[in-house]
Amino acid sequence: AKTEGRATYRVFDPEMAKSANLRRQMEVDLREAIVADRFELHYQPIMNIRQGGVAACEALLRWNDPKRGLIPPMEFIPLAEEIGVIGEIGEMVLRKACVEAMAWSSDIKVSVNVSPLQFNSRDLMADVAGALAASGLSPHRLDLEITESVLLAHTEDVLETLHRLRATGVRISMDDFGTGYSSLNYLRRFPFDKIKIDKSFVRDVDSSEDATVIVRAVTNIAGSLGMITTAEGIETLEQRERVRAGGCAEAQGYLFCRPLPAAMLRPMLDELALD
Ligand code: C2E
Ligand code: CA
Ligand code: CA
Ligand code: CA
Repeated sequence: AKTEGRATYRVFDPEMAKSANLRRQMEVDLREAIVADRFELHYQPIMNIRQGGVAACEALLRWNDPKRGLIPPMEFIPLAEEIGVIGEIGEMVLRKACVEAMAWSSDIKVSVNVSPLQFNSRDLMADVAGALAASGLSPHRLDLEITESVLLAHTEDVLETLHRLRATGVRISMDDFGTGYSSLNYLRRFPFDKIKIDKSFVRDVDSSEDATVIVRAVTNIAGSLGMITTAEGIETLEQRERVRAGGCAEAQGYLFCRPLPAAMLRPMLDELALD
Protein backbone atom coordinates (compact mmCIF):
# COMPACT_ATOMS: atom_id res chain seq x y z
CA ALA A 1 0.00 0.00 0.00
CA LYS A 2 3.03 2.25 0.52
CA THR A 3 3.53 2.66 -3.20
CA GLU A 4 -0.09 3.32 -4.06
CA GLY A 5 -2.04 6.53 -4.59
CA ARG A 6 -0.87 9.78 -3.10
CA ALA A 7 1.88 8.18 -1.05
CA THR A 8 4.00 7.14 -4.06
CA TYR A 9 6.65 9.74 -3.27
CA ARG A 10 7.32 7.95 -0.03
CA VAL A 11 8.79 4.57 -0.86
CA PHE A 12 9.84 3.62 2.63
CA ASP A 13 8.38 4.97 5.83
CA PRO A 14 10.59 4.02 8.79
CA GLU A 15 7.86 4.98 11.26
CA MET A 16 5.41 2.62 9.60
CA ALA A 17 7.95 -0.17 9.50
CA LYS A 18 8.61 0.38 13.18
CA SER A 19 4.95 0.23 14.10
CA ALA A 20 4.46 -2.87 11.94
CA ASN A 21 7.30 -4.53 13.82
CA LEU A 22 5.90 -3.48 17.16
CA ARG A 23 2.54 -4.87 16.24
CA ARG A 24 4.05 -8.15 15.07
CA GLN A 25 6.00 -8.45 18.33
CA MET A 26 2.86 -7.65 20.31
CA GLU A 27 1.01 -10.40 18.47
CA VAL A 28 3.73 -12.94 19.27
CA ASP A 29 3.73 -11.86 22.93
CA LEU A 30 -0.07 -11.95 23.15
CA ARG A 31 -0.21 -15.51 21.83
CA GLU A 32 2.49 -16.49 24.32
CA ALA A 33 0.57 -14.77 27.13
CA ILE A 34 -2.46 -16.95 26.41
CA VAL A 35 -0.39 -20.13 26.67
CA ALA A 36 1.39 -18.90 29.82
CA ASP A 37 -1.83 -17.47 31.32
CA ARG A 38 -0.44 -13.99 31.89
CA PHE A 39 -3.81 -12.37 32.47
CA GLU A 40 -5.45 -11.14 35.61
CA LEU A 41 -8.79 -9.65 36.45
CA HIS A 42 -9.22 -6.52 38.49
CA TYR A 43 -12.62 -5.85 40.01
CA GLN A 44 -14.52 -2.64 40.46
CA PRO A 45 -17.49 -2.57 42.86
CA ILE A 46 -20.86 -1.44 41.53
CA MET A 47 -22.74 0.27 44.35
CA ASN A 48 -26.42 0.02 45.10
CA ILE A 49 -27.12 3.72 45.64
CA ARG A 50 -30.69 3.19 46.84
CA GLN A 51 -30.25 0.66 49.62
CA GLY A 52 -26.49 1.03 49.98
CA GLY A 53 -23.89 -1.71 49.77
CA VAL A 54 -22.22 -3.48 46.86
CA ALA A 55 -24.50 -4.90 44.16
CA ALA A 56 -21.82 -6.42 41.93
CA CYS A 57 -18.19 -6.21 40.88
CA GLU A 58 -17.16 -5.74 37.26
CA ALA A 59 -14.27 -7.88 36.06
CA LEU A 60 -11.76 -5.78 34.11
CA LEU A 61 -9.03 -7.59 32.25
CA ARG A 62 -5.31 -6.79 32.45
CA TRP A 63 -2.42 -8.42 30.66
CA ASN A 64 0.57 -8.81 32.94
CA ASP A 65 3.51 -8.73 30.54
CA PRO A 66 7.02 -9.39 31.90
CA LYS A 67 8.50 -6.61 29.70
CA ARG A 68 5.74 -4.03 29.61
CA GLY A 69 4.03 -4.47 32.96
CA LEU A 70 0.23 -4.32 33.36
CA ILE A 71 -1.38 -3.55 30.01
CA PRO A 72 -4.92 -2.11 29.97
CA PRO A 73 -7.57 -3.87 27.87
CA MET A 74 -7.96 -1.17 25.24
CA GLU A 75 -4.31 -1.75 24.27
CA PHE A 76 -4.70 -5.43 23.43
CA ILE A 77 -8.35 -6.43 23.07
CA PRO A 78 -8.68 -4.90 19.58
CA LEU A 79 -5.56 -6.88 18.56
CA ALA A 80 -6.94 -10.04 20.18
CA GLU A 81 -10.13 -9.58 18.18
CA GLU A 82 -8.20 -8.98 14.99
CA ILE A 83 -6.00 -12.07 15.24
CA GLY A 84 -8.85 -14.29 16.36
CA VAL A 85 -7.86 -15.07 19.96
CA ILE A 86 -10.55 -13.08 21.77
CA GLY A 87 -12.67 -16.24 22.08
CA GLU A 88 -10.03 -18.05 24.11
CA ILE A 89 -9.37 -14.95 26.19
CA GLY A 90 -13.07 -14.43 26.81
CA GLU A 91 -13.53 -18.02 27.90
CA MET A 92 -10.64 -17.66 30.35
CA VAL A 93 -12.15 -14.41 31.71
CA LEU A 94 -15.49 -16.12 32.33
CA ARG A 95 -13.84 -19.03 34.11
CA LYS A 96 -11.63 -16.83 36.31
CA ALA A 97 -14.38 -14.36 37.17
CA CYS A 98 -16.78 -17.12 38.26
CA VAL A 99 -14.13 -18.80 40.43
CA GLU A 100 -13.05 -15.53 42.05
CA ALA A 101 -16.63 -14.40 42.72
CA MET A 102 -17.15 -17.56 44.81
CA ALA A 103 -14.95 -15.89 47.47
CA TRP A 104 -17.39 -12.99 47.92
CA SER A 105 -20.61 -12.72 49.86
CA SER A 106 -23.35 -14.54 47.95
CA ASP A 107 -25.42 -11.39 47.46
CA ILE A 108 -22.70 -9.79 45.31
CA LYS A 109 -22.84 -10.51 41.60
CA VAL A 110 -20.01 -10.55 39.08
CA SER A 111 -20.21 -8.61 35.82
CA VAL A 112 -18.22 -9.86 32.84
CA ASN A 113 -17.60 -7.95 29.60
CA VAL A 114 -18.27 -9.94 26.46
CA SER A 115 -16.78 -9.03 23.07
CA PRO A 116 -19.14 -9.05 20.09
CA LEU A 117 -16.81 -11.55 18.45
CA GLN A 118 -17.43 -14.11 21.19
CA PHE A 119 -20.86 -14.54 19.69
CA ASN A 120 -19.43 -15.49 16.31
CA SER A 121 -16.31 -17.45 17.08
CA ARG A 122 -17.51 -19.40 20.13
CA ASP A 123 -20.42 -21.18 21.60
CA LEU A 124 -20.94 -18.54 24.29
CA MET A 125 -23.72 -20.58 25.85
CA ALA A 126 -21.32 -23.51 26.33
CA ASP A 127 -18.54 -21.25 27.65
CA VAL A 128 -20.89 -19.74 30.25
CA ALA A 129 -22.30 -23.11 31.28
CA GLY A 130 -18.76 -24.50 31.59
CA ALA A 131 -17.56 -21.59 33.74
CA LEU A 132 -20.60 -21.86 36.03
CA ALA A 133 -20.30 -25.62 36.41
CA ALA A 134 -16.55 -25.55 37.07
CA SER A 135 -16.84 -22.82 39.73
CA GLY A 136 -20.17 -23.76 41.30
CA LEU A 137 -21.35 -20.16 40.91
CA SER A 138 -25.11 -19.70 40.69
CA PRO A 139 -26.19 -18.36 37.28
CA HIS A 140 -28.13 -15.66 39.13
CA ARG A 141 -24.84 -14.16 40.26
CA LEU A 142 -23.52 -13.68 36.71
CA ASP A 143 -24.15 -10.56 34.63
CA LEU A 144 -22.89 -10.28 31.07
CA GLU A 145 -22.16 -6.79 29.76
CA ILE A 146 -22.50 -6.31 26.04
CA THR A 147 -22.26 -3.22 23.88
CA GLU A 148 -24.76 -2.52 21.18
CA SER A 149 -22.19 -3.51 18.54
CA VAL A 150 -23.09 -7.07 19.56
CA LEU A 151 -26.53 -6.53 18.12
CA LEU A 152 -25.30 -4.97 14.90
CA ALA A 153 -24.34 -8.24 13.25
CA HIS A 154 -25.98 -11.66 13.14
CA THR A 155 -28.93 -10.28 14.98
CA GLU A 156 -31.19 -13.31 15.00
CA ASP A 157 -28.48 -15.70 16.22
CA VAL A 158 -27.32 -13.23 18.83
CA LEU A 159 -30.84 -12.60 20.11
CA GLU A 160 -31.44 -16.32 20.36
CA THR A 161 -28.22 -16.83 22.34
CA LEU A 162 -29.11 -13.95 24.66
CA HIS A 163 -32.57 -15.36 25.27
CA ARG A 164 -31.16 -18.82 26.01
CA LEU A 165 -28.59 -17.35 28.41
CA ARG A 166 -31.28 -15.39 30.17
CA ALA A 167 -33.46 -18.46 30.51
CA THR A 168 -30.66 -20.06 32.57
CA GLY A 169 -30.78 -17.17 35.06
CA VAL A 170 -27.81 -15.18 33.75
CA ARG A 171 -28.53 -11.46 33.46
CA ILE A 172 -27.65 -9.22 30.50
CA SER A 173 -26.64 -5.56 30.68
CA MET A 174 -26.28 -3.09 27.86
CA ASP A 175 -22.89 -1.43 28.31
CA ASP A 176 -21.85 2.08 27.23
CA PHE A 177 -25.43 3.12 26.61
CA GLY A 178 -25.70 6.26 24.54
CA THR A 179 -22.40 6.00 22.70
CA GLY A 180 -23.71 4.18 19.62
CA TYR A 181 -26.05 5.04 16.81
CA SER A 182 -29.35 3.54 17.80
CA SER A 183 -29.22 2.58 21.43
CA LEU A 184 -32.94 3.22 21.92
CA ASN A 185 -33.81 0.95 19.05
CA TYR A 186 -31.96 -1.94 20.68
CA LEU A 187 -33.88 -1.57 23.90
CA ARG A 188 -36.99 -2.50 21.96
CA ARG A 189 -35.39 -5.56 20.44
CA PHE A 190 -33.91 -7.22 23.45
CA PRO A 191 -35.08 -7.38 27.06
CA PHE A 192 -31.94 -6.24 28.85
CA ASP A 193 -31.98 -6.37 32.62
CA LYS A 194 -29.82 -3.33 33.07
CA ILE A 195 -28.55 -0.33 31.17
CA LYS A 196 -25.16 1.12 31.95
CA ILE A 197 -25.17 4.83 31.17
CA ASP A 198 -21.83 5.72 29.64
CA LYS A 199 -19.41 7.86 31.58
CA SER A 200 -19.44 10.50 28.85
CA PHE A 201 -22.90 11.54 30.15
CA VAL A 202 -21.94 11.26 33.78
CA ARG A 203 -18.91 13.47 33.22
CA ASP A 204 -21.23 16.38 32.48
CA VAL A 205 -23.85 15.96 35.17
CA ASP A 206 -22.06 18.39 37.50
CA SER A 207 -21.95 21.17 34.98
CA SER A 208 -24.76 20.60 32.56
CA GLU A 209 -28.44 20.52 33.38
CA ASP A 210 -29.03 18.70 30.07
CA ALA A 211 -26.89 15.74 31.09
CA THR A 212 -28.99 15.33 34.24
CA VAL A 213 -32.12 15.46 32.15
CA ILE A 214 -30.75 12.74 29.85
CA VAL A 215 -29.86 10.50 32.79
CA ARG A 216 -33.37 10.95 34.16
CA ALA A 217 -35.02 10.32 30.79
CA VAL A 218 -33.00 7.15 30.12
CA THR A 219 -33.77 5.90 33.63
CA ASN A 220 -37.49 6.55 33.09
CA ILE A 221 -37.51 4.71 29.76
CA ALA A 222 -35.52 1.85 31.27
CA GLY A 223 -37.90 1.66 34.20
CA SER A 224 -40.96 1.47 32.01
CA LEU A 225 -39.32 -1.43 30.12
CA GLY A 226 -38.53 -3.21 33.38
CA MET A 227 -34.83 -2.39 33.46
CA ILE A 228 -32.66 -0.55 35.96
CA THR A 229 -29.81 1.85 35.21
CA THR A 230 -26.23 1.96 36.41
CA ALA A 231 -24.26 5.20 36.09
CA GLU A 232 -20.62 4.67 35.13
CA GLY A 233 -17.60 6.82 35.87
CA ILE A 234 -18.82 8.50 39.08
CA GLU A 235 -15.89 10.54 40.39
CA THR A 236 -17.53 13.19 42.57
CA LEU A 237 -20.14 13.33 45.34
CA GLU A 238 -22.09 15.79 43.24
CA GLN A 239 -22.29 13.32 40.34
CA ARG A 240 -23.43 10.61 42.72
CA GLU A 241 -26.21 12.83 44.09
CA ARG A 242 -27.35 13.89 40.63
CA VAL A 243 -27.57 10.40 39.20
CA ARG A 244 -29.33 9.25 42.34
CA ALA A 245 -31.79 12.11 41.93
CA GLY A 246 -32.18 11.06 38.29
CA GLY A 247 -33.33 7.63 39.49
CA CYS A 248 -30.27 5.46 38.84
CA ALA A 249 -30.30 2.39 41.06
CA GLU A 250 -26.60 1.70 40.81
CA ALA A 251 -23.37 3.61 40.38
CA GLN A 252 -19.76 2.76 39.70
CA GLY A 253 -16.64 4.87 39.62
CA TYR A 254 -13.42 6.02 41.25
CA LEU A 255 -15.44 7.86 43.93
CA PHE A 256 -16.37 4.51 45.47
CA CYS A 257 -13.43 2.36 44.45
CA ARG A 258 -10.89 1.85 41.69
CA PRO A 259 -10.59 -1.54 40.01
CA LEU A 260 -8.57 -3.77 42.38
CA PRO A 261 -6.80 -7.13 42.09
CA ALA A 262 -8.88 -9.98 43.55
CA ALA A 263 -6.80 -10.21 46.73
CA MET A 264 -7.18 -6.49 47.51
CA LEU A 265 -10.88 -6.52 46.75
CA ARG A 266 -11.91 -8.73 49.66
CA PRO A 267 -11.14 -6.26 52.51
CA MET A 268 -12.61 -3.42 50.41
CA LEU A 269 -15.91 -5.30 50.02
CA ASP A 270 -16.23 -5.53 53.81
CA GLU A 271 -15.60 -1.80 54.13
CA LEU A 272 -18.04 -0.84 51.34
CA ALA A 273 -20.76 -3.11 52.75
CA LEU A 274 -21.08 -0.62 55.62
CA ASP A 275 -21.65 2.39 53.32
P1 C2E B 1 -16.02 -0.57 30.26
O1 C2E B 1 -16.69 -1.89 30.21
O2 C2E B 1 -16.84 0.62 29.98
O3 C2E B 1 -15.35 -0.50 31.71
C1 C2E B 1 -15.25 0.67 32.48
C2 C2E B 1 -13.90 1.35 32.31
O4 C2E B 1 -13.96 2.61 32.98
C3 C2E B 1 -12.75 0.58 32.96
O5 C2E B 1 -11.58 0.83 32.19
C4 C2E B 1 -12.65 1.25 34.32
O6 C2E B 1 -11.39 1.10 34.92
C5 C2E B 1 -12.94 2.68 33.96
N1 C2E B 1 -13.46 3.45 35.08
C6 C2E B 1 -14.08 3.01 36.19
N2 C2E B 1 -14.44 4.03 37.01
C7 C2E B 1 -14.05 5.16 36.39
C8 C2E B 1 -14.13 6.55 36.73
O7 C2E B 1 -14.66 6.96 37.77
N3 C2E B 1 -13.60 7.43 35.84
C9 C2E B 1 -13.02 7.03 34.67
N4 C2E B 1 -12.52 7.96 33.87
N5 C2E B 1 -12.92 5.72 34.32
C10 C2E B 1 -13.43 4.80 35.16
P2 C2E B 1 -10.60 -0.36 31.77
O8 C2E B 1 -10.43 -1.33 32.91
O9 C2E B 1 -9.36 0.25 31.19
O10 C2E B 1 -11.41 -1.10 30.65
C11 C2E B 1 -11.66 -0.47 29.41
C12 C2E B 1 -12.58 -1.27 28.55
O11 C2E B 1 -12.01 -2.51 28.15
C13 C2E B 1 -13.90 -1.67 29.25
O12 C2E B 1 -14.77 -0.56 29.25
C14 C2E B 1 -14.36 -2.80 28.36
O13 C2E B 1 -14.99 -2.31 27.21
C15 C2E B 1 -13.04 -3.44 27.94
N6 C2E B 1 -12.80 -4.65 28.75
C16 C2E B 1 -12.34 -4.76 30.02
N7 C2E B 1 -12.26 -6.05 30.42
C17 C2E B 1 -12.71 -6.79 29.36
C18 C2E B 1 -12.88 -8.20 29.14
O14 C2E B 1 -12.63 -9.06 30.01
N8 C2E B 1 -13.36 -8.57 27.91
C19 C2E B 1 -13.67 -7.66 26.94
N9 C2E B 1 -14.14 -8.12 25.76
N10 C2E B 1 -13.54 -6.33 27.13
C20 C2E B 1 -13.06 -5.90 28.32
CA1 CA C 1 -18.38 -2.90 31.03
CA1 CA D 1 -19.07 0.80 30.13
CA1 CA E 1 -16.38 1.35 27.28
